[in-house]
Amino acid sequence: MKRCLVIFALFAATTLLAQEKAIKPLDMPMSFSGTYGELRRNHFHGGVDWRVGGKIGDPIHVIKSGYICQVSVSVYGYGNGIYVKHNDGTMSVYGHMSAYTPKIAALVKKAQYEKKRYNVNLYFGPDDFPVKQGDIIGRVGSTGSSAGPHLHMEVRDSSNVPMNYISMGYYKPVDNMRPHIARVAFYSYDDCSPVANTFRVRNIPDPKNFSGEVNLPKESYVAIDAYDIQDGTTGKLAVEEYRVSLDDRMIFRFKVGNVGFDEGSDIKSLIEYRESYAGGRDMVKSVVDPGNSLSYKTDTLDGGLIILEDYERHTVRIEALDEHGNKAVVALPVRRDDTIQLPPADTSFNNTPVLWFTPNMVCGDGFKYLLAPGALYNSFNLRWKKTADADVQNGRLSPSWKIGDAWIPLKSSGMLIIDAEDIPAPLLSKAYIASLPGMGYAGPLSGARVGFGTYCIGVDTEGPRITVDKNNVIRVFDAFSGTESVDVEIDGKWHLSQNRGGRVTILDKGSISKGVHNLKITAIDVLGNETVWNKNVTF
Ligand SMILES: [Zn+2]
Repeated sequence: MKRCLVIFALFAATTLLAQEKAIKPLDMPMSFSGTYGELRRNHFHGGVDWRVGGKIGDPIHVIKSGYICQVSVSVYGYGNGIYVKHNDGTMSVYGHMSAYTPKIAALVKKAQYEKKRYNVNLYFGPDDFPVKQGDIIGRVGSTGSSAGPHLHMEVRDSSNVPMNYISMGYYKPVDNMRPHIARVAFYSYDDCSPVANTFRVRNIPDPKNFSGEVNLPKESYVAIDAYDIQDGTTGKLAVEEYRVSLDDRMIFRFKVGNVGFDEGSDIKSLIEYRESYAGGRDMVKSVVDPGNSLSYKTDTLDGGLIILEDYERHTVRIEALDEHGNKAVVALPVRRDDTIQLPPADTSFNNTPVLWFTPNMVCGDGFKYLLAPGALYNSFNLRWKKTADADVQNGRLSPSWKIGDAWIPLKSSGMLIIDAEDIPAPLLSKAYIASLPGMGYAGPLSGARVGFGTYCIGVDTEGPRITVDKNNVIRVFDAFSGTESVDVEIDGKWHLSQNRGGRVTILDKGSISKGVHNLKITAIDVLGNETVWNKNVTF
């Protein structure tokens, strides 16, 4: 009996804890500029972007009780981020903050000076920084990869998978508006599989107002650009579910659901990657590649292909649903047309068949490119050719090789080795595999892990260029392999600075007294070439 009571008490306690309802992180009306599951080229948006009224500095409240388990500072990504573990096993993450609480800020600064770098991660236990629901944990900002002030907030489950907490009922935004199907396009292909040599048969920019008939070859597929609209925000938000039917048979369905970090990058094979690569919006395609690990979130018939057996008029029906059940529909009449011609293949290329379920090796007479099993989403003919001879004067020590097409998505990079036997010994230690056209560092001579693209052997014997203007704004640029690190010293002591794409800002200005100080900047490129700039400057 006693044991029963204990169990009952434990049960009651856990349910009480689990029932703590999330509060809003901001003291302002709820409105979003981004939602969960938005297609972002190489990942799904794992959080919700809360609008903050365009200004920096408002307080951020923790949505449930728990403890701060991690603080991360980076020039990229979440910028100033904070992670709070809750009693129910979930974790909330807050990104792009402008400021931490003074206690956390002091710890961050201490760690930056100890490690002598700007980017740091700090981890804490349950007793270090416990927080109560509603406590202020920082201030709204726009640090890291952010285009303007907003709060990126995620909620992750106990397995660290970001959850769609809006559709799970954490908050109830007003959404009575249907998604918008902005564009659809039909594609066919002239290869063994619909990934290489795809070509667009028909583009329909405003499908809702389309009149007429779409002529298609016997086999094709469709890609959809759709976004959700919510009351009171101009954001192009996430569509939760896509459906495609041919007459009354559903041939494709994709529901985003919760996406783990390990599977999120397979979005590249879910979208018509070639359109995205060319700078277009991400469009969900109806055909499903066999190597796509998100395929369990799809239902298909005939692999998502539109197969027209006869020459009658048929209907392709496209639906986009948001997380609140609002639905947009377009229906397009289609008819088979056997006169549709595929564009002729470019015969200047060599072709090597590659298969998605095996390891593959592509061998030219000056390079080897190896793909591990599982590197490809689909099988196709990989095309390659020599695009230029070596040009030592311009730093290209080997011929340039175009290997595959950068608009074909890869699940993981291949290993590229370029023959280096003709390279003079003194240059060997400063040679690297370069990606064209910019000659950026792709990897060491012994083998570079690279995707499809054009490569040659480059050489870098010069350190980065450092310039400092009269306002002490520092710029660092490396013409070849790229800048690896920049360190600032003031009067001989390491000082906190931040390098954002070559623009280096001296931080922690409060600790520098007004007057003349010795400023020393050391920049090192990827191949270890070093440049030092050293002068007395006035602060
Ligand atoms: Zn975000």
